[in-house]
Amino acid sequence: MTRRIDCDVAIIGGGLVGSSAALALRGMGFSVTLLDKGFCGAQASGVNYGGVRRQGRPPEQLPLSQRSHAIWPRLQQLIGIDGEFLRSGHLKLARTPEDMASLERYAAEVAAFGLDLELVGHNQLSERFGIGGDVIGGSHCPGDGHANPRLVSTAFAAAARRAGAEVLENTRVIGALATSGGFALEAEGVAITSRTLINSAGAWADSFAAAFGETVPLERTYPSMIVTEPLDPFLTVNIGIEGGGIYARQVARGNVVVGGERAAPLADPDYSRPRSDGALTIMQRASELFGPLRHAQAIRFWSGTEATMPDRNPVIGPSATTPGLIHAFGFSGAGFQIAPGVGEVLAELVRDGETSTPIAPFSITRFSPASQPGGAPSPTTTG
Ligand SMILES: Cc1cc2nc3c(=O)[nH]c(=O)nc-3n(C[C@H](O)[C@H](O)[C@H](O)COP(=O)(O)OP(=O)(O)OC[C@H]3O[C@@H](n4cnc5c(N)ncnc54)[C@H](O)[C@@H]3O)c2cc1C
Repeated sequence: MTRRIDCDVAIIGGGLVGSSAALALRGMGFSVTLLDKGFCGAQASGVNYGGVRRQGRPPEQLPLSQRSHAIWPRLQQLIGIDGEFLRSGHLKLARTPEDMASLERYAAEVAAFGLDLELVGHNQLSERFGIGGDVIGGSHCPGDGHANPRLVSTAFAAAARRAGAEVLENTRVIGALATSGGFALEAEGVAITSRTLINSAGAWADSFAAAFGETVPLERTYPSMIVTEPLDPFLTVNIGIEGGGIYARQVARGNVVVGGERAAPLADPDYSRPRSDGALTIMQRASELFGPLRHAQAIRFWSGTEATMPDRNPVIGPSATTPGLIHAFGFSGAGFQIAPGVGEVLAELVRDGETSTPIAPFSITRFSPASQPGGAPSPTTTG
């Protein structure tokens, strides 16, 4: 028999975005139903690298990123665990004078946002951070850090449930329709009506947006990750490289988490497999920077499915076609750090119809039919 739920807000997708929105909405007293087709936090939010980084984001993301930055040290009181969040600092390295010039330009461009970036030269890299290899300098953001995504994402969903949200896992949303009073959702074993609908379905959010006449150029990408056996402590900061190609962090237990390549999608694009040559490339690059990695055993490889937009900015904000529908997806490889702030923003949008954090650059209207050739499909259900 199909169960029926009526609530203020239905949320499709229990990643960190949907779960943090559910928690924030409960804090405002709304009745909330959070639905995930699998387990909350089992997709990108739970398998990512764990970088809690503001440095390197485009300036338009920084107000939102700063809002999240204030939330991360409060995880213990917010969700009951600290999520192994460590304010280690984030050090972005430059291999060439051009890359160093790019770091310098970025530091000047974002100076007003309070990231307190510090440019460091080659000698300091080895003296302060023990970094060797072919790098000429870097940019250090002392307030950035890293956390354990496997713990953080599920803990947000669990906290939302404790706060009174109806959290339905293994409950795929099959269709969503606008009705006179709001929305009607058909999900596995349950029918839901709600006043407001949040589309936070990650790499699957484009089908829900299209169902409401909003076609978006979302692509799926599959970052590839490696973790080594525990090693003696040698890496105190979260490392990135200007231009990409490698990122690395060492956790308190000694394991080093490394990324920088892409996995290959399988026939079913929900899944991907890390490429063995990609894994070798990552470890080769990392061991050029850090001697202790030269003989380290890699003990696990994995990847995840990420929603990537062509301009690398997410879609956050009200639907342009359907009152009461709010989108939040397409975080393009950088949603872990900002998701807790996004959750607060989504809750404000539900309560007030506006938010104190600037989100105009993330409007879905940048992909609207007016600016895209071809026109949009008419509203219907999605699968
Ligand atoms: C390997 C990897 C490394 C990354 N590293 C970092 C990093 O270091 N720092 C950083 O800031 N970001 C990083 N990211 C990006 C970050 O993980 C994502 O941007 C963020 O987790 C997106 O959160 P989300 O809630 O939008 O999506 P997701 O976590 O994917 O959640 C979406 C949820 O929607 C559910 N869903 C989909 N369709 C339906 C349906 N029909 N019915 C019900 N539920 C549905 C899914 O099951 C899923 O749980 C990385 C991503 C990956 C994959």
